[in-house]
Amino acid sequence: MAVLAFGGKKTNTGKNACATVATMGSMRYCLCLVAAGLACLMAAETQQSVSVRGKLSVHEGAPATVETPDHKVVTLDGDTVTRKVLGDERLNGFEIEARGHFTAADRFTIDPTHTHPLLVRQNGKLKLVSYWCDICSIRAYTPGPCVCCQRETNLDLLDPDKP
Ligand SMILES: [Zn+2]
Repeated sequence: MAVLAFGGKKTNTGKNACATVATMGSMRYCLCLVAAGLACLMAAETQQSVSVRGKLSVHEGAPATVETPDHKVVTLDGDTVTRKVLGDERLNGFEIEARGHFTAADRFTIDPTHTHPLLVRQNGKLKLVSYWCDICSIRAYTPGPCVCCQRETNLDLLDPDKP
């Protein structure tokens, strides 16, 4: 669009026409870069996250699994924080929805924690997993003792629209 508008403004004198050609050339080069950039983005798009849904099973000493609606059992993996959350037995049996990608037909790696890829369903709504210390009013995204008072934090499922 910008290129068309730019070209339209040019006069017909020879000098300007040359300048236009040169400029158009470099602009075409720029457009190529843009196109290459878009191609990269689109390639990334095809590798983009998919979702897995189902019932979470937390296993002590082994990675958590999810049973999908078509009764496939998929082993879940993720970064350290995700692994800790997936080891929290309070989440056992929850319906979950996780974004990430399959590394094998029955293995799924969840996206990095900062993208909030893991949601659990509570009362029909998808919620973010967080942990809350009543005493210090501190929120955490990993289970375990409060960073401040060291008391065990409570599981606190958050509405992702108002975190
Ligand atoms: Zn505390």
